[in-house]
Formats: sequence, C-alpha cells, structure tokens
Amino acid sequence: MDIVHITSEFTGLAKVGGLADMVRGLVLAQKKSLKKLSVILPFYTFLSFSKLTQVAPSIWKTDYMNVTIYLAKTPTHLKQVYGENALSDFLHFCDATHLFLKQISPSIIHLHDWPTALLTLYPKCAPMVFTIHNAAYQGECPVKLLKKRSIAPQTYQKAKNLKNNTVNLLAAAIENADYITTVSPTYLNEIQSAPKKQKNLLTKTIQKHSHKAKGILNGIDTDYWNPYTDPFLITPPRKEDGAVSFQDMLKIKKMHKTQLFSQFKLHDPSRFFLVCITRLAKQKSPKTIELGLHYIDQCNATAFLLGLPTEEKYQSHFSYLSTMWSQSNNIHICLKQEEKLAHQLFAAADALFVPSKEEPCGLTQMIAMRYGTIPIVRDVGGLKDSVTDQKNGFSFHTDQASLHAIDRALQIFTKNPEGWHTLQKNALETDFSWKEQNQLYTHIYQWLSLEKPESSLLRGPLPNSS
Ligand code: ADP
Repeated sequence: MDIVHITSEFTGLAKVGGLADMVRGLVLAQKKSLKKLSVILPFYTFLSFSKLTQVAPSIWKTDYMNVTIYLAKTPTHLKQVYGENALSDFLHFCDATHLFLKQISPSIIHLHDWPTALLTLYPKCAPMVFTIHNAAYQGECPVKLLKKRSIAPQTYQKAKNLKNNTVNLLAAAIENADYITTVSPTYLNEIQSAPKKQKNLLTKTIQKHSHKAKGILNGIDTDYWNPYTDPFLITPPRKEDGAVSFQDMLKIKKMHKTQLFSQFKLHDPSRFFLVCITRLAKQKSPKTIELGLHYIDQCNATAFLLGLPTEEKYQSHFSYLSTMWSQSNNIHICLKQEEKLAHQLFAAADALFVPSKEEPCGLTQMIAMRYGTIPIVRDVGGLKDSVTDQKNGFSFHTDQASLHAIDRALQIFTKNPEGWHTLQKNALETDFSWKEQNQLYTHIYQWLSLEKPESSLLRGPLPNSS
C-alpha cells in the first residue's frame, strides 16, 4: 500500500499544535510497516533543506527522518502556518497538491483538517480518509472560489450556507471523504450528540455519516517524548527495554525542578508544582486556568503557565496577570511558544492542569504522563479517554470541581507520598504509543483499498465506531 498524508503541520517542520505531533507520530509509526509512505506539506517560506529536487511544476521533494516529504509551492508564498489569508493559501495548496496526486497515484490519501478539505471535492484518484483534529475550525469558503476551480456543485451542495453563499469546507469533506476519523472516541460522540440548540450544519452532517466514522484516540511519538533521550533535558542513560524506570523519572524530575525553580526564582522545590502548557484560546478555558493559578497561589504551592495567546484579549489579560505576579515566588507566567521550556516543564512538574471546555484529543496529558507528571483534566473528549480519576490522574467536570481536583492532588502529594508514587507509576505504565492505533488505521486503509465491486464481500462491514 502506498499512503500519502496531506497536512498543514508536521512537528519539526511546521507546528502550531497537536495536529503536527499527531501526523508525525502516526507517520513514524506507519513507516515501520509500510513500504511506501509520504507526506505533502505547503512549502512555507521558513522551511529550508540542503537537498531538494523538483518533481513537478510546483512540487519539491526532500527527506526528513527517513520519510519522503513533498513540498507544494503556492503563488501566495506562505510565511506562516495560519496567516491572515489562510483560506486562499490552503485552496492554492490543495490545487497544487491535486495535480501532483494524479501524477503519483497513491493507494490511499489521508487528509488532515479543513486546510486539506478542498481535495475531497476534486475528482478522486484514490480513496480518501479524512481526520478531524478540531471541528472548531471549519473553513468557510465563498462559492465563487469553488466555481472558479470548476468544482462540481453536487460535491458541496449539502455543505452550503445559503445566507452568505459560502461552503463549510469541513462539512463538505465529511460528505465526500470515503472514511472519517476523529482523534478520540468521546469527541466523535460529542460532535454527533450535540444538544438540539447547538445542532448546526457540521453536527448534522457528521450524524448523517456516522456509518463511515470512527473515533481513534491519538498516540504520541514515544521516541520524541522520551525522558531518556529528550534533547532538552539532562538525562540518565536509556534503559534497554525502552520503558521509563520510576527511579530514573524521580531523579530527572528532581534535577529539573530544582533548576527551573532557581532559574525563575520560585519558592521551595519541595512544594507541589502545577504547570499548564497550552495555547490560550477559548476552547482551552483561560478563565479556569486563571482560577487554578489563583487557587495555587492561595494554597502556597507553585504554578507555571506557558501559554501562547491566540487572541488580543487573552494577550492583554494574561500580560496583566503576569505583571501582577511578577514579584511572586509562587506563580510564573510566560506568554510564548517555546519547545525547550515545554519539555523542561513536563519533566519538572508534579501535575499538569488541562481544564479545556472542548478537547478533541489533547496531547499534553499523555506527554505529561511519560514524565511522571500527573494530569488534572476536565472529563471531555480525549481527556476523558486517556485519564482515569485517581488512577493515572484526576478529572473533574465543573469549574468549581476543578479547584477540588487540584486540592485532591495537592493533599495526596503532601500527605501521602506513597499514594502519589502509585499515581506516577500508573501514569508511566499507561501506553500511549501508536502501536494499537496504527493497526486501526491500517485496517481502515486495507478496507478502503479493496475497491473492486467483486471484493465487496471480502470487505465486510465498514470498520465503524462500534
Ligand atoms: P492543541 O493542538 O489544541 O493546541 P494539544 O494538547 O493537542 O493541543 O497539543 C499541544 C501541543 O503543543 C503539545 O505538543 C504541547 O506541548 C505544545 N504546546 C502547547 N502550547 C505550547 C507552548 N506555549 N509552548 C510550547 N509548546 C506548546
């Protein structure tokens, strides 16, 4: 089988959030079992490679981590991943990619999120799997831009918003793709069973196509997120079997906690240390994050927020909080995206706070567990599917309960070290590798690639979410 992934993000080349981590993690896992595998990304202007070969009018080929990467150049010169003209940028990206797909003719095309949705509307050259990483971003495209590309109207008719003559690209992709996946089973249930008031075009479309949809919990790249080989940490030698030993984890944590506390002038590294590593966007519930910081301050524990504001209102409000706490030894706020600091915080922290209102999968809770850091999460989406209360983390539902959950963690940490160590051991033992998930995706690819009518019996029922 020859699989091609088409994506706007890939960790190490272009990353905004979890989409980048997911595609890289899945691709590296698939590389072990698939002979032909490639990735198509936009040729962002910030990317540079020593070896590049032009293979089609707008396509260049390179190699990254032993994976073939195709880079599609667009007339709009993409300077950042989601810039001001994201819609037009990604429509151009899809145009260039579509022509190239005809040339390479893969057996399966795996698309990721709305920036690649247009590809489902062009005449298909292979079965298409479409993964929804975040249904909050849907891509609203004026009909005239589809007409300009001579896209057949029947492909987008059902995804049309008549009020402003636009097409919801995500809904159109759900209509046209051969198979849909979401990044966790609970998230698929949540979008399918939205209450009546919140029913919109997207929820209705996914409900209608539930027979070809499955929720598959993401894994993480356990080689990249590995306390033994993490290039941003001071680490002991790797254990032969690859598992993270509890004793080594404790050593790594102690060393990095002490170092961070001294670097940021935080008080007493023996105290409970909660971190939050996130984009500051509505979905992540900045209000609850703030509540948590105040609560930690009151409890005389320590917290660190590494947050990238996505809107001006969050930038200004959290800048204000940062100034307010600038002399504090309890709370530190750092408003940026910084990979190295994120790794050091995952390693140094005792707990990670993830109060997202919506979380399609969420990766930080899984990453945290690899470093023996206990997640405290709202029980939604993939957070619900990966964290079990009092086993490998803590979960809550309401904002008020979030403070109670922090308190429950704090009490165990301070009064019951053995209980805390059990939580850490359970977290280290939870398997978030791509092994099982990779098999599920392979099953879907195999099912779709048996395309001849006479093989429909062989196909059996669609691998659906049951
Ligand atoms: P989302 O994709 O919605 O932003 P996820 O939890 O799925 O959230 O993935 C977040 C990824 O981005 C993780 O790898 C996390 O470490 C990283 N990340 C989030 N915020 C920051 C930040 N401020 N600095 C560095 N890395 C960050």
